[in-house]
Amino acid sequence: MQLHSLTLVQARRLLKEGRVSSVELTRAVIDRIDALDQKINAFINVDPDGALEAARRADEAIANGDQHDLTGIPLAIKDLICTRSMPTTCGSRILENFRPPYDATVIRRLADQKAVIVGKLNMDEFAMGSTTEHSAFGPTCNPWDLERIPGGSSGGAAAAVAADMCLAALGSDTGGSVRQPASHCGVVGLKPTYGRVSRFGLVAFASSLDQIGPMTKTTADAAVLLKAIAGHDPADSTSVPKPVADYPCRLEGDLKGLRIGLPREYYQTEGLDPRVEQVVKGAVAVLEDMGARTVEITLPHSRHAVAAYYVIAPSEASSNLARYDGVKYGMRDFEQTELLSMYNSTRSRGFGAEVQRRIILGTFALSAGYYDAYYGKASQVRSLIIDDFRQAFKLCDVIAAPVAPTPAYRLGETVDDPLTMYLSDVFTLSANLAGIPAISVPCGLADDRLPIGLQLMGTHFDEATLLKVGHQFEKAAGISAKPQL
Ligand code: GLN
Repeated sequence: MQLHSLTLVQARRLLKEGRVSSVELTRAVIDRIDALDQKINAFINVDPDGALEAARRADEAIANGDQHDLTGIPLAIKDLICTRSMPTTCGSRILENFRPPYDATVIRRLADQKAVIVGKLNMDEFAMGSTTEHSAFGPTCNPWDLERIPGGSSGGAAAAVAADMCLAALGSDTGGSVRQPASHCGVVGLKPTYGRVSRFGLVAFASSLDQIGPMTKTTADAAVLLKAIAGHDPADSTSVPKPVADYPCRLEGDLKGLRIGLPREYYQTEGLDPRVEQVVKGAVAVLEDMGARTVEITLPHSRHAVAAYYVIAPSEASSNLARYDGVKYGMRDFEQTELLSMYNSTRSRGFGAEVQRRIILGTFALSAGYYDAYYGKASQVRSLIIDDFRQAFKLCDVIAAPVAPTPAYRLGETVDDPLTMYLSDVFTLSANLAGIPAISVPCGLADDRLPIGLQLMGTHFDEATLLKVGHQFEKAAGISAKPQL
């Protein structure tokens, strides 16, 4: 087996046994990036020198008997998580040369274990999008079919993991941006419970929804990475002081008696591609063969999730993005000599069309006299969605659903049609609105070549069950296809 195709867990074992060094692993990954990323465009910045230096330090630590789960493992990071060692662009011109003065908490946690960070990953600008076409640095292509979207907004992360250009990655999920690209690229993506992982140093998009999550080749790898980044952080007031479960130790066990809820509304959604439906239902049948029991449930307000999300997220974004004014961060239009025209020009030039659209939408929704009608109303709908889940989880332990209504579509299909793109988020948004954890696990291929993910949603802070079900499914279904590159 080639080194770049190792999983995190496999690499950890080889490092431990002294059969491979972190420098060798890191070199293999960098060579892979050199060979493929011209075609895929998953990275915005690669840091070969920094990565090799970190790998040498990791090898020293391992030689001294100081090996943690991630010591010496080459990882890559979505480019909206602050890193001191590399620029953090958020896929935007406005932050093109921005170098954060501090590391995000998740980066510090990786560094504490001497993980190796090889580069920063492409994304829709400020994480707004479902295709990774809305990046100032060009679109990322899906490694399974270079003419298709990898999904988004963490499309660079999903593509890099799928194409073995890193062993695992961190993405962020505000409305599906970890799960949906994971589904389209045939990798695992986990959105943790809101508050499980510190958001300190995660550039804010919609603060009441954002979470950082692992994107990996296997569910067992996701368990290891989640364990490393989860936990309370005094620097993030929304992080929850609850003990972190030992996820990797809780992957085994049978599924007998597990109740799997199938939300009626999800499977009756107009626009659910029959190929997706067939693959997802096949996956549910595998779980039933393993002793799980299905129950039909109802999430009656889920049909309002898209409308509620596309008021709440742009509203919060319009406020969060007010800070990019040409004064404090990133680019400035120096030709303007007057304050207001400097603001206007910097923001018009610095932000792309999708970001501007959302700022306008959000500013309107929050403007005097409209707050109750829009943000207030959407928040009420959000409460109803939360309550739907509360009722549903009385009847089931996990919910199984599609991730996206169709397989990855062709690049360009929705660039000028934002509404169609928004509608494709129909199955992922509710988990963010409710703050519950959700995972996408590869469960088959449409037309024998386009990956489809199975989405599993659980109760607050029950990531362990999702990871266990995902891991057991993986073992039983034996899905091992890789993109031909
Ligand atoms: N696709 C959704 C959006 O465009 C979700 C993005 C995300 O999760 N960051 O807002």
